[in-house]
Amino acid sequence: MKVQEIPCRTILNPTGGFLGKGFTHSINLYRGCALGNTLCGMYCYAQWNSFHLQGRRWGSFLDVKEGFLDAYHSQYDRLKRPKSGEAKPIHIFMSSVTEPYPPQERTTRRTRRLLETMLTRPPDSLVIQTHTPLVVNDLPVLLKLRKLCRLHINITVETDFPALPKPFQPHAHSPESRIQALRTLRASGLHTVATVSPLLPLRDPWQFAKDLESSCDRVILDHYLLGDGSPEGARTKQTVFPQLLIDAGFEEWTTLDKFHEIVGIFKEAFCDANRVGVSQEGFNSEC
Ligand code: SF4
Repeated sequence: MKVQEIPCRTILNPTGGFLGKGFTHSINLYRGCALGNTLCGMYCYAQWNSFHLQGRRWGSFLDVKEGFLDAYHSQYDRLKRPKSGEAKPIHIFMSSVTEPYPPQERTTRRTRRLLETMLTRPPDSLVIQTHTPLVVNDLPVLLKLRKLCRLHINITVETDFPALPKPFQPHAHSPESRIQALRTLRASGLHTVATVSPLLPLRDPWQFAKDLESSCDRVILDHYLLGDGSPEGARTKQTVFPQLLIDAGFEEWTTLDKFHEIVGIFKEAFCDANRVGVSQEGFNSEC
């Protein structure tokens, strides 16, 4: 993977489309994703952003944005401390097209530095959307930030399979490690959300739903046919991913009938429909 630094003048990017009904801004500290060669990189919706790709293969590059703290300071102050007029709302989704806790975060602490900056410039709400349990390492700063803004931690757990059969790529982090991270964060008092997005084949749907019910405050389910940013999953259908599922004997999981059956199981397991969100509406009700 080729890693390079790129300058950034803005880091609070106005939202639209899928996230536009609830969030005002997204934050992505990278272009490309360090997890692009793992299982989630195979179906990743961000791989369709041609502006970020610039002809490169998803998973082959990581552009690291420099100057993001200065950009956050100046954009925040223009929105929240204007010289004239009213302060504007800031509802942030971090991240929409990259991973905020890549392996590099262990040493560079870019996300942590941004969270620390938010202690002096808090948004109205912040949703951290991650595929990794590394977010637990930021527990001290998250507990401080929780007192200053509405803070939700979303961790994707799209299947209970420790691995899908080859040629599917392995997970970057096991589903169990991500569920454990949800448990740890919730036990610390943070609002936690499991995002089963997109839903992949499950070994034991009822047990998976019960495991998540006891680990997080809320769950959001989505399917690539609903949530990949194109009508009826047209983007994902351009990839080999649906055919690989069929070849592996998982054809029913490529249908919305199966998705709605699983949503029903989750609603039963969570005993409260308000704790189960679905697709775009489910994500946008987080902020
Ligand atoms: S972590 Fe998220 S952005 Fe990165 S490859 Fe996986 S799905 Fe895509």
